[in-house]
Amino acid sequence: MEVKIGDVPMGGDNPIRIQSMTTVDTMDTKGSVEQAIRMIEAGCEYVRITAPSVKEAQNLEAIKKELRVRGYSTPLVADIHFTPNAAELAARIVEKVRINPGNYADKKRFEEIEYTDASYEAELERIRQKFTPLVKVCKEYGTAMRIGTNHGSLSDRIMSRYGDTPLGMVESALEFLRICEDEGYYDVVLSMKSSNPQVMVQAYRLLVHKLDEEGFRPYPLHLGVTEAGDGEDGRIKSSVGIGTLLEDGLGDTVRVSLTEEPEAEIPVAKALVERYERREGHATIPPVTNYPIDPFSYTRRETREVVNIGGHQVPRVVADFSTSEKITPASLFAVGYNYSISLDKWNIADMACDFIYVGDNTLDFEIPGTLGVICNHASWLQTRGKDRVYPLLQVHELKDGIQLSEVLNFVHVFLHDLNAALIAKLKEMNNAVLIIDTDNKHGMAEQRRLFLELIDHACRIPVIISRRYTDLTHDLLRLYAATDLGGLFIDGLGDGVFLRGGEGVDRRKLNETSFNILQATRTRISKTEYISCPSCGRTLFDLQETTAKIRERTFHLKGVKIGIMGCIVNGPGEMADADYGYVGSGPGRITLYKGKEVVKRNVPSAKAVDELIEIIREDGNWIEPPAA
Ligand code: SF4
Repeated sequence: MEVKIGDVPMGGDNPIRIQSMTTVDTMDTKGSVEQAIRMIEAGCEYVRITAPSVKEAQNLEAIKKELRVRGYSTPLVADIHFTPNAAELAARIVEKVRINPGNYADKKRFEEIEYTDASYEAELERIRQKFTPLVKVCKEYGTAMRIGTNHGSLSDRIMSRYGDTPLGMVESALEFLRICEDEGYYDVVLSMKSSNPQVMVQAYRLLVHKLDEEGFRPYPLHLGVTEAGDGEDGRIKSSVGIGTLLEDGLGDTVRVSLTEEPEAEIPVAKALVERYERREGHATIPPVTNYPIDPFSYTRRETREVVNIGGHQVPRVVADFSTSEKITPASLFAVGYNYSISLDKWNIADMACDFIYVGDNTLDFEIPGTLGVICNHASWLQTRGKDRVYPLLQVHELKDGIQLSEVLNFVHVFLHDLNAALIAKLKEMNNAVLIIDTDNKHGMAEQRRLFLELIDHACRIPVIISRRYTDLTHDLLRLYAATDLGGLFIDGLGDGVFLRGGEGVDRRKLNETSFNILQATRTRISKTEYISCPSCGRTLFDLQETTAKIRERTFHLKGVKIGIMGCIVNGPGEMADADYGYVGSGPGRITLYKGKEVVKRNVPSAKAVDELIEIIREDGNWIEPPAA
C-alpha cells in the first residue's frame, strides 16, 4: 500500500526509494543542510536526521526551512530513540518520524524479567499511554512514521518473552502497529534491521507473513542491514541482506548503512535497486508446488561429504584460471598461496581458495597441499594419476563406460539439464559434486529452483554455485554476486562458490569477494568481523578513522566480532552479538565492553585501542599478527 511522505510517496506502485541519514550534529544547521544537499544530489529521496532531544527536534525546523529556501523539497525524517517529547515535536515539523519500538517507551537495562500475562498486559497499556500522543500528532499533521525494529535493541519485555529472535523483532513492531491501527492511523512503514543478514532476512519474511496472517494492511517495508561496516564488507553484507529480500519481491525503500560519508551509500543502494528496474522478462522457471525450505530459519541442505565438499564441511571456494596463458606458482599469490623460495614452502592465507579450475591448462609445479585442481575431462585423461587433480564433466560426457576419478568428479549442469534420468545417475555417483550454472536473467531464482529439484528427488549431491559476470565492473559484480549467492547461502543452499568475471578481472578481488560473501552469510568465517555503526549526529568520535585504526590492529583475529559504535545511548544495544565493544561514551572517552558487559569505562580515546587489545588478550582471544 502507498504511504504519503511529503511529495515522495512510498510503497504501492511507486519506485523503490533510496534514503540515507546525515552524520553531522543536528544543531549544526549549516553543516546538516550542506550534507543533506550532497546526499540529495547523489540521489537520496528521503533524508533522515537524528533528534536525540527536544532541542535537536526544534532545530529540524531551521534545517528544513533552509533546504526549502535553497530549492530542495526532499522529505525529512526525524530519527528518535528514547525521547517521546522530541518525537511529538519533530512530527509537527518533518514529513516522517522513525521510532524504535525497543526504546520508545523503555530504557534498556538488559534485565531478565519474568512477566505474567497480567504484568505483560500492564506493560502494553503503559506503552499505549506513552505512544498514543505521537500517533495522534502524526495523524493530525499528515506525518508518516516508521516503526523501525533493531535486532540489537529489543526491549527487556520482548527479550524476556521471545528472546532476540526474528519473532521477537516482529512482535516488537506489531505491538506498536496495533496501537496505530486502533487510532485509525495507517501512514506506517516497517523495518526489521540487524547487523546479521541472516537474522534480518528471516525477520522481514516473518513480518510479511504475520501481517498477512493477522489481517494487517500490507505496509511498505524499509530495508537495511545495520552496522554493516565499511568498504567491501559493508557493501557485501548489505547486498546479501537487502538483495535477498529484493529478490523475494520485498522492499519499498532501501538504506545502505556504511561507516563512510552518507553520499557514498547512495550509489550502492541505487545499484541494488536499479537491477530490478532493468530486469524485464526472463526465461521461464518451472513453478513449484511444494516449497521444502523454511524461509524463517536456517537449515543447511543435507548433502553427503565428498572429499572436503558438502556434509559438515565449510563451503569451498573455487578460483578460475582457465583463461590464463600460463599458470606459475606466482599466479597463486592472488588466491592466497604464497610460495617462499628461501623456505621452499607455501604460506597459506586464511582466504586461500580450495580449488582452481584450469580448463585445459596444465601445471608443471607442485601445488600446495590444501589445493585441488579441476580440469576439463579430456585434459584430466592426459594427467590421470596426478594427486589432487579432478575432472570436470559436461552432462553430455556422462556416458556409460566413461573413465572417472575414483576420488572426486565435478559435473557442470544447468537447470534445463536436470531430468529424472540424470538425477538418478547423480544419486549413484558417490564421488560427484555438481557445479551449477545459469544464463537466466533471474539467475538466483533459477538456481534455487535447481536445488528444489534435487531436494524433491532426495538427491544429496553437494553443489558448488557458479556465477559468471562477464560485463560488470568489480564494484557491481560484488553487489550482484552477494545478492545472487548470498540469497542461496542464507537459505542453507550451496557447498561452494565459483565466481567468474570478464576479461581483465582481478583474481585477487574475486577471491576475496567469494570469501566475504561466505563470511556475510556466516557460513564460513575467515577473518575478524566488524560491526560498526554508520555514525549520525550523536557520534562522539571519527568512526571511519577509528574503524580503520582498530581494523589495522585486529584484522588477523579470525572469527572475533568487534562492535565499534559512536554513542553509548544506542551503541551497546545495537552492537548485537559482538564479542567486544568500543563505544563512545563522551567527548574523547570510550567505554569498552566484553559482550554486553562493561569492562572499562571512560578510557581516554588515545589509549582505548590498546586497552581493547588488552581485554581481548586477557580473554584468551589474542594472537600476534603474522609477520609482514
Ligand atoms: S550507535 Fe552510531 S548511528 Fe546509532 S545512534 Fe549511536 S552514533 Fe548514531
